[in-house]
This record gives sequence, C-alpha cells and structure tokens, in this order.
Amino acid sequence: MKVIVSIKQVPDTSGKVAVNPDGTLNRASMQTITNPDDMNALEAALKVKDATGCKVIVVTMGPAPAAGMLREALAMGADEAVLVSAREFGGSDTYATSQILAAAINKIGVEKDDIVMCGRQAIDGDTAQVRPQIAEKLGLPQVTYAADIKKDGDTVTVQRMLEDGYMTIKVQTPCLLTCIKELNNPRYMSIGGILGAYEKPLDTFDYEALKDDPLIDASTIGLKGSPTNIFKSFTPPQKGVGVMLEGSGKETCEELANILVSKHII
Ligand SMILES: Cc1cc2nc3c(=O)[nH]c(=O)nc-3n(C[C@H](O)[C@H](O)[C@H](O)COP(=O)(O)OP(=O)(O)OC[C@H]3O[C@@H](n4cnc5c(N)ncnc54)[C@H](O)[C@@H]3O)c2cc1C
Repeated sequence: MKVIVSIKQVPDTSGKVAVNPDGTLNRASMQTITNPDDMNALEAALKVKDATGCKVIVVTMGPAPAAGMLREALAMGADEAVLVSAREFGGSDTYATSQILAAAINKIGVEKDDIVMCGRQAIDGDTAQVRPQIAEKLGLPQVTYAADIKKDGDTVTVQRMLEDGYMTIKVQTPCLLTCIKELNNPRYMSIGGILGAYEKPLDTFDYEALKDDPLIDASTIGLKGSPTNIFKSFTPPQKGVGVMLEGSGKETCEELANILVSKHII
C-alpha cells in the first residue's frame, strides 16, 4: 500500500508580490514554498504511514529547482520523490498539467489499496482544477474538502467540510482525496530527517519517461496542448474611500438607513 501526494511549488505570497508589466507574476524574484494545502495533504499521508507503515511518494511537476521542495518532503518523512520536468511540458495549463501528472502517477503505479492525495487549491494559479482532472484521467473516485481521514482496509472514511457542517463519506480505494488546512498541522522536518533526505530516492520523469502513456501526446501537453489562453490579466482598480458617518449611534443608524433607502438597497 502507498500514498502518492501531488505537491506544487508556489511563490510565497506572504512577502512582497512582484508583478511584471504585463500583469503576470514575476516568479524569479520571489521566494518559493510548498503550496500550503499540499503540506496538509503530505501530513495526512504521513499520518496514514504512521498508522499503517505504508510508503509515501511525493510527486511534483515543475522546473529543476522544485527538487529542493521534494527534498524537504523527504525530510518530513516521505519515502520517495518524483520530479516531472521537461521542456515539452512548459506552458501547460491546468488541463495539460493534470494530463502529465496523471501519466506520472500511472508510471509510479496505482494499486488496489493506494490513495492519491492533493491539496484543495494552489495559491498561485488558484483554479482548483488540477486534482479533479487527475482523478478523472486516472478513473479514480474523488472526495474533496477532506477535514478528517481514516483508512480501514480497502476503504477510507472521509469527513468532508461543508459551509454549514460535515458530510461523512466512505470510499473504496484506490481513490483521490483533496485536503484542506483544517485537516491537520504539518510536522516540522527533524535534523535526522534532513540528513536522511539525501539518502532517499528522487527520480526525474522527463518526456522520454512518460511519452508511451496514452495521456501524453503533443496535442495534449505543453503550450500547444493547452486549451486555455490568458486573454487579459490586470489589477482591479482600487475602490474609493467610504463615507464616514458621524454622530450618536441612533443618528448614524438613521442616516445609514436613509442612504440605503435612497439607493433602493432596502
Ligand atoms: C496558457 C497557460 C500557460 C501556462 N504556462 C505555465 C508555465 O509555463 N509554467 C508554469 O509553472 N505554469 C504555467 N501555467 C500555470 C499552470 O497551468 C498552473 O499553475 C497549473 O496547472 C496548476 O494550476 P493551479 O495552480 O490552478 O492548481 P490547482 O488546480 O489550484 O491545484 C490543486 C492541487 O493540484 C495539485 N497540483 C497542481 N499543480 C501541480 C503541479 N505542478 N505539481 C504537482 N501537483 C500539482 C496540488 O496538489 C494542488 O494543491 C500556465 C497556465 C496557462 C493557463
């Protein structure tokens, strides 16, 4: 049994966000981190490992420096890592990205007892499209917004967080789960974990490694295989300052009510 965790390296938007004149992110000038929801997915996988002794494999698609993020995942306790990286994969939109990641997960191999885990959403692209597309392409049942996960034999019981409560779902493995921050607190790397991370396997899957998968075709990967085109990217204009009402609580409430009535809001 194994858990495959799909993790993405993203710009650290908690610091200064640098934007190019054309509106795209200036990624080169920003620090990178592991996408926060993906850290929760990794922690959830490591908890399954703690409970069952299973293997945890992390996979990412990204440029060569993303290997550093994979080493951190190995230092946290993952057993193996796979970097999916090739010039042919550059320019991929979410459709092409999920196509390539699904092929990489196929190559790792998904067996009866296995779980694939993803984060809910990446903080840069922010589409939340990649993981349902991976599930679809792998033909796996998917449970989203996992706030609690319990593996029991060949089923997983998941509590899905909804706006006003929880939904409990039992799903047969193999399956894909998407994780949210409410699920857990990701553990820190230990000193021993950091030293051991360099002894663990980190493979690279390039175009050659994946090209025989039926999902990989020039028409489905990279810029050419991406049906999405960015039409325009812009920063919305700042809203004007609000109106400050002065007076006692009764007076300001009356004035506010009058303004809302005059604008036909109430
Ligand atoms: C036309 C176009 C061209 C693009 N070209 C490039 C490019 O050249 N280089 C580039 O970096 N981006 C490029 N992008 C952005 C890229 O498509 C998205 O960043 C990527 O598909 C992930 O989408 P998202 O960030 O919305 O992830 P979401 O769908 O929000 O992510 C959900 C979850 O999916 C998993 N996931 C998502 N992406 C990855 C990944 N790469 N590896 C592992 N797991 C992942 C994670 O578990 C994540 O939590 C391009 C986008 C478009 C539309």
